[in-house]
Amino acid sequence: MSIRDRYAPSPTGLQHIGGVRTALFNYLYARAQNGKFILRLEDTDRTRYDAAYVANLYDTFAWLNFSWDEGPDIGGEYKPYIQSERTELYKKYAEELLAKGQAYSCFCSPERLDMVRKEREASHASETGYDRYCRGIDPKEAAQRAKTEPCTIRLKIPLGATTRFSDTLLGDIEWKNDDVNPDPVLLKSDGFPTYHLANIVDDHLMKITHVLRAQEWLSSTPLHVILYKAFGWEPPAFCHLPMVMGQDGKKLSKRHGATSIDEFRKNGYLPDALINYIALLGASYEEGKEIYTLAELAERFSLDKLNKAPAIFDYKKLEWYNALYIRMMDDNKLAQAALPFAINMNLFGNGAPNDKQKNMFAQAMPLVKERAVFLSEIPQKLTYLFSEPPVPAPEEFIPKKSTLEAAIKLLTLGRELLREMAHLDDAGAEELVKVKAESEQVKLGDLLMPLRVAITGARVSPPLFGSVRLLGAESCETRIDRALEKLRG
Ligand code: GLU
Repeated sequence: MSIRDRYAPSPTGLQHIGGVRTALFNYLYARAQNGKFILRLEDTDRTRYDAAYVANLYDTFAWLNFSWDEGPDIGGEYKPYIQSERTELYKKYAEELLAKGQAYSCFCSPERLDMVRKEREASHASETGYDRYCRGIDPKEAAQRAKTEPCTIRLKIPLGATTRFSDTLLGDIEWKNDDVNPDPVLLKSDGFPTYHLANIVDDHLMKITHVLRAQEWLSSTPLHVILYKAFGWEPPAFCHLPMVMGQDGKKLSKRHGATSIDEFRKNGYLPDALINYIALLGASYEEGKEIYTLAELAERFSLDKLNKAPAIFDYKKLEWYNALYIRMMDDNKLAQAALPFAINMNLFGNGAPNDKQKNMFAQAMPLVKERAVFLSEIPQKLTYLFSEPPVPAPEEFIPKKSTLEAAIKLLTLGRELLREMAHLDDAGAEELVKVKAESEQVKLGDLLMPLRVAITGARVSPPLFGSVRLLGAESCETRIDRALEKLRG
């Protein structure tokens, strides 16, 4: 059997870690099984719908660089893949259940439903939800009334029975039908379906074989199984994915930090690092191996790699991944990824870089990639390359237990080395400074420190020799001259 699974988001919010984890696992499972991964937009909740969330969905997955085999944007055999374009279908299926006596029309007004809810709450009744008031209406009479009165269609839950299904991860699950949401609405009075009906009809029509979804949907599954039975359809295999928690053991939320992919992106995370980390949220692959490309994950993924225990979202670990991926990245690609952050902070003056600046930026990557955790840090660390930094206060140039006069002398000595230094690699440049330090009988560090402060504008900076090569001797000399001027007062 060829597997078909899906990601079925409701565009009622930004794409977040949990949703992307669901999408990723479905994607990986389909790839590993040589199956098909489908995107379906469940946009039947029109009050919370926003087109901006649909745009964010496409944008997020384009950035993460993984895609589906069928979906609203690319079509497929079972199109349309947008539920709001399928309303006639749901209506037809709801009416089919009505005709079979598995559903009934409900004429209760919103006011009555509200009253029932309040009464039940006030009396702490064990049953919540609808009181099945219209369940007893004779179907013929109901059909007559439905011609003129607004009504919903509700599922007639078979009472007194038990619903059983097996979850791939959680095992056998039993639910007394009397405890299932009492006769939920399938079709609203405006003809729109509820999530339950649309979800089941679509999974069936789109020939979905596996439903991998967040564990918060587990309590809806008995109802879904009842619906499948009512239609006489075979349910798909269910696998409810382990919860994603914050470090405090509570469900991951904004309180813990960033949760939307957009935020991670804006904060300077790389898509590959995020994917690698998210793929490990609730799944374990090979002992000791932590780095996986999407292709490697797709080769290894299987449902028995999933953990039952909830996954803990560790922001520090994700940072570790990001730093690692920055280090592993090719310089030109890294420069490209960091460029928007550079433009955003006006690194190149106002706007986009010219070719020379762009080149310089790419060449500067080796200076920063070893230490950067976020893409956004990269241009911050490199500002001194693109504009002359202000000359720091004189004390900044003075080595420990030394004097201003000594600093001036050291800087003057250092200046003499620049013409040669700018053409040497790191080892050559180090040797050059060493020889000079020995012949002048000064400490190597003392010779380097004022030079670094004059050229980069700070005591702590990216590697000095690489910076000198990039800036060129002349520009470094100008910086040193300005510094000397200030030091000499
Ligand atoms: N539309 C539901 C959601 O937003 C889909 C749940 C499911 O996968 O069945 O998560």
